[in-house]
Amino acid sequence: MKKPEVLIVGAGIAGPALAYWLARNGYRPTVVEHARQLRSGGSAIVVKGPAIPVAERMGIVPRLREVATRNRSLTLLDPDGKRVLRLPTSSEGSPTVEVTRADLSEVLHRTARDDAEFVFDETVTALDQDEGGVDVTFRRSAPRRFDLVVGTDGMHSTVRRLVFGPERQFVSDLGLFGATVPLEPDAIDDPSELTMLTAPNRMLVVHPSRTTPLAIFTFRATRPEPHDRKNIALHKQTVADVYAGVRWRAPELVAAYLDHPAPFFDPLTTVRMPSWSRGRVVLLGDAAAATALLGDGSSMAMAGAFALAEELASHHDDHVRAFAAYESRLRREVRPRQRRVGLLSRLMVPGTRSGLLVRNTVGRAVGLTSRETADAKTG
Ligand SMILES: Cc1cc2nc3c(=O)[nH]c(=O)nc-3n(C[C@H](O)[C@H](O)[C@H](O)COP(=O)(O)OP(=O)(O)OC[C@H]3O[C@@H](n4cnc5c(N)ncnc54)[C@H](O)[C@@H]3O)c2cc1C
Repeated sequence: MKKPEVLIVGAGIAGPALAYWLARNGYRPTVVEHARQLRSGGSAIVVKGPAIPVAERMGIVPRLREVATRNRSLTLLDPDGKRVLRLPTSSEGSPTVEVTRADLSEVLHRTARDDAEFVFDETVTALDQDEGGVDVTFRRSAPRRFDLVVGTDGMHSTVRRLVFGPERQFVSDLGLFGATVPLEPDAIDDPSELTMLTAPNRMLVVHPSRTTPLAIFTFRATRPEPHDRKNIALHKQTVADVYAGVRWRAPELVAAYLDHPAPFFDPLTTVRMPSWSRGRVVLLGDAAAATALLGDGSSMAMAGAFALAEELASHHDDHVRAFAAYESRLRREVRPRQRRVGLLSRLMVPGTRSGLLVRNTVGRAVGLTSRETADAKTG
């Protein structure tokens, strides 16, 4: 019998994970990625919660442990750079594992690449579906017909725009921005220590990562507008302006940001959609339901990939029921996380000195769950 053909758009975290599970469930996956190679950007993320059993079943936990960051503690600094408290960020025997986003993407891709066709430097330009399939037009390759299409193309999903409508309908800003830049290895003294300075409306983190430390700027601002997303000069100016009065290592870290040819910059947003599928097209990962700030996106993407492949296998020939079952399973995980985002953003980046004082006092009292704090760096 001919295997159903599924087009997966985006080879970040959700894309390769889904390709792996679909291939195991009797589907023929093709993954297109618009970048020329796997994207290498991103901070460290924690594989946790529902992603752990998925990683175990994929057999990738030993490899993830090999490439885990060495981050063991978090030091919080006040606006003057003075130490407020120090917390452990990992505990012996914990099943969670912190890796860089790039390492996770690479491990997932290696696991899936023999069973799926991966096409880089490619994207979709039109999706036209009927009762029996989806006709797909690509930027470079010849048009092809697929049984199903899955949009795993992240926060600014093209599949979502083509099938469901413009991004602004589904995205809510938290009023925060995330900006990151890689640093030279000698920019840190202790590879096991993550340092976080918080001033009103601004946070600055130095993360040791694994091989390349990272400076992470998370701040509240009213600009730039969404249409300025590709304006690198404006991003640099914004970071320079927002961190102008900040002490500690801010001048040196801002200089590193300004020196980089294409540093990361994006508003921190959540994606909320009334439905994740339309006909034969379904969304997965950040494209469907980004949970900015929590750093949970990768774990949600892995859990979602497993759930979608499993539901397609158990509702063979009935993608409508499969998509509905997948969505209802995943929404149970996503909903509570999205509800926490607003509160967490105010806790992470308080707007005033008194808010900061309260945050630090409460943090000391309750041992501010270090895992959450460490995970919520840039979203
Ligand atoms: C460069 C980068 C850095 C990130 N840094 C962090 C971080 O530091 N902390 C954090 O918590 N989260 C970060 N994220 C988001 C995090 O990866 C996601 O929350 C999570 O992994 C969900 O995975 P995803 O596969 O849905 O989306 P993503 O990991 O965003 O992957 C989407 C993929 O789709 C590709 N793509 C986009 N548009 C198209 C298109 N039109 N056609 C084909 N392919 C397309 C992208 O290049 C990317 O490879 C980052 C994402 C990226 C892309």
